[in-house]
Amino acid sequence: AWAMCYFLSNLLKATTGSSRLPAIVFGAAALSSIYNVQDHLSSFNPVRTVRLALRYGVTAFDTSAYYQESEIVLGTALKALELDFPRSTYKLMTKCGRYGSTVADFDYSPATIRASVQRSLARLNTNYLDAVYLHDVEFVCTQVGPREAGDPTIALGDAQAEYGLAPGQEGEVWGEGDQKIVDALGELRRMQDEGIIKAIGITGYPLPTLLRLALLALHTPPYKALDVLLSYSHLTVQTTTFAAFAPHFRERARISQLLTASPLNMGLLTPTPPSWHPASQELRAAAGRANVVCAEWEGGLPNVSVGFGYGKAIELDVPMVVGLSNTREVHENVHVYRAVRDGKDETRRAQEDAVVRSFGDLQQWSWASPPA
Ligand code: NAD
Repeated sequence: AWAMCYFLSNLLKATTGSSRLPAIVFGAAALSSIYNVQDHLSSFNPVRTVRLALRYGVTAFDTSAYYQESEIVLGTALKALELDFPRSTYKLMTKCGRYGSTVADFDYSPATIRASVQRSLARLNTNYLDAVYLHDVEFVCTQVGPREAGDPTIALGDAQAEYGLAPGQEGEVWGEGDQKIVDALGELRRMQDEGIIKAIGITGYPLPTLLRLALLALHTPPYKALDVLLSYSHLTVQTTTFAAFAPHFRERARISQLLTASPLNMGLLTPTPPSWHPASQELRAAAGRANVVCAEWEGGLPNVSVGFGYGKAIELDVPMVVGLSNTREVHENVHVYRAVRDGKDETRRAQEDAVVRSFGDLQQWSWASPPA
């Protein structure tokens, strides 16, 4: 058994030595009571879940100071596994600046950003982080476009990639909120220079706003592109708007590493969406119908949805961050990812089409963030 472990860990070291992220990134919000409260009583076993993920080559983790006990649970599990999986064999990404659910719970002041990153280092038992994001920037900055006026019924489409900014406006700081973001990025860059953080970036929901801020970073001192950007719930069976924005993030904002998250739209695309989910009643009802469309499919709507998400992520060459709360979910996601990577069969393709069609007019729709 020891020889096998030694062989396995060396194999993984060899395959994870590169700086490329794995195709599946472990979303560790699922290791907190934000999700899966039931699992805390039954199948919840973070050490087994994290170990299985690492053995499969899921060697990057996404968490946040905001995800309740997530950083502590993840850090404790990784500590328990450090003999087999030393720090150099995986990547850790966390976030700062968001500490609760309302606008009042955000603090992007440089002192808080630094203290937050230092607390994350301690909780995660590490002396460096592979990436740190400003969490959910749209709550802090000035928003753009009709979508951000708070009308959740306006569909996002390709055109939206264009209406963010006219050429020449990219370096304009629009008000106090933008300035807070520029200053917070400055503090993250200082920690990057100190060697504590490898990559810095932003996360959030409204894609035009993310694009505008990515351009703002590039066109204000020190005129450096963001290293990473994470967008969530925009590459799913219900909306694929992220695909329209990806080239703009890459070519116009020169971001080298994009990530997409939440193929299950933060649990909306499961039989039991969380009560706090921001979707409208109409969108919830449509997700309910999509579950019915998959009643005969093994693994139901979640299985179809993760397969669709992995397929799109592979096409765009972006890692998919998926919430993983137990070993069953790890097995299923890896299994579906491999099946899709090796070529989707016709039955899966037809099932995906049926689910996509079931969203009807709500295809490509988004909610307002922050809520109107
Ligand atoms: P998700 O869509 O990835 O998963 C939702 C839930 O589905 C999770 O609770 C997970 O336990 C469960 N699940 C996963 N695979 C399943 C399967 N095959 N069958 C049934 N259930 C399954 O949503 P998420 O966890 O919110 O997003 C993924 C990760 O992305 C998060 O954990 C977080 O790390 C990151 N994220 C970041 C932001 C942000 O920065 N603003 C927002 C959303 C998500």
